[in-house]
Amino acid sequence: MDHPFDCLVIGAGMAGAICARELAERGGKKVLVLERRDHVGGNAYDCFDKAGVLIHRYGPHIFHTNDSRVFEYLSRFTTWYSYQHQVVANIPAEGGRMELPVPFNLISLEVVFGPHKAASLAKRLIAAYGVEKKVTILELRQHPDPEIAALADYVYEHVFVHYTMKQWGQRPEEIDPNTTARVPVFLSEDCRYFQDLYQGMPIEGYTPMFQRMLDHPDITVALGADAGDRLTLAEGTVLLDGVPFDGTVIYTGAVDELFGCKYGRLPYRTLRFQFETHPVDFWQSHGTVNYTMDQEYTRITEFKYLTGQELPGVTTIMKEYSEAYTGEEGQVPYYAIINEANNALYARYQAEAARYPRFHLLGRLAEYKYYNMDAIAARALALCDDLLK
Ligand SMILES: Cc1cc2nc3c(=O)[nH]c(=O)nc-3n(C[C@H](O)[C@H](O)[C@H](O)COP(=O)(O)OP(=O)(O)OC[C@H]3O[C@@H](n4cnc5c(N)ncnc54)[C@H](O)[C@@H]3O)c2cc1C
Repeated sequence: MDHPFDCLVIGAGMAGAICARELAERGGKKVLVLERRDHVGGNAYDCFDKAGVLIHRYGPHIFHTNDSRVFEYLSRFTTWYSYQHQVVANIPAEGGRMELPVPFNLISLEVVFGPHKAASLAKRLIAAYGVEKKVTILELRQHPDPEIAALADYVYEHVFVHYTMKQWGQRPEEIDPNTTARVPVFLSEDCRYFQDLYQGMPIEGYTPMFQRMLDHPDITVALGADAGDRLTLAEGTVLLDGVPFDGTVIYTGAVDELFGCKYGRLPYRTLRFQFETHPVDFWQSHGTVNYTMDQEYTRITEFKYLTGQELPGVTTIMKEYSEAYTGEEGQVPYYAIINEANNALYARYQAEAARYPRFHLLGRLAEYKYYNMDAIAARALALCDDLLK
């Protein structure tokens, strides 16, 4: 039996959807996409909840990029709601709590130290480093002015260290000082979280954007289809439904699962999301509020800020808890834990996959890496450029 498809794509997230479209449209190939979930879009999937609020089921996704090829490519499948993300840190303060822009900037300085001291500190910071510059706390700590050095300690303690411990489940002594030293202070009054040229949200949501991308006569999408049930890799041969398949395969799932986790599971952090709907127009002050000093959750996102949805009298928020990933049913591996031992384990799986010609690992799971959406979109386009040369 011959397969009716030229190419097989595993996963209908950003990586898989772009490859499927490119192979079908630019390459004239017949493409089968297997997606184990009951929807397309991968972790960028969004949908309406019971209250009618557009939510992101797998964590808040804000699109931003400086890559005009990626922006123009995605713009074929959506128009954009022009959203500029802002984040504040909510921390305990004398007589209550206060909120400061994150990344810590000249406005944060004023909230914390008051206008007088902030103005004098800002003047000295700008004289030392220049305006609109991002300076790491390591650099600030090395400055001879003790007040500038003290500012670095303030940012580390109030914005960074406890938040990072919650995110990665670490104790203070496990925090890598080299990483933490890279936290920037932004010498600017620009309170946007990203400074990219293109920023926004697909106007009807991410899911319709992905649906349009996959809507092509030469693409067949099978939902609820786990590659584990259909695909076998044995002795250098790829089998689809038990029959050898010699076309291109793009695999965007977890690489350890592909080989039955035979060398052990690749470690991840996972997230637990708690959604709450409230009978108010807006529940918090900004799209995302980080709890950098206390609370068990790391942050709360309120979707209506992100999507611009106009829906009076009701809103949905999402509290985010970071947890260890055990691989148990229903848990999603979100963040690869990058270190030497884990990279070495990944390399063993990568070497196994390399034994299969025309088999490509692509995406945050298959490459055991964190990618923003624009970065994985660029990788997918580049891989297809290569394949279609
Ligand atoms: C909490 C969170 C917030 C984020 N926020 C942002 C943001 O604001 N901006 C941004 O640019 N990026 C953000 N990202 C990153 C973004 O999620 C990734 O860039 C994107 O998901 C990568 O796409 P992908 O196709 O590689 O993976 P995924 O989106 O994970 O897609 C992989 C797909 O493969 C499917 N699959 C896996 N295994 C199998 C199998 N065996 N058989 C069939 N199907 C399978 C999965 O079900 C999934 O649908 C965020 C990530 C997280 C975790």
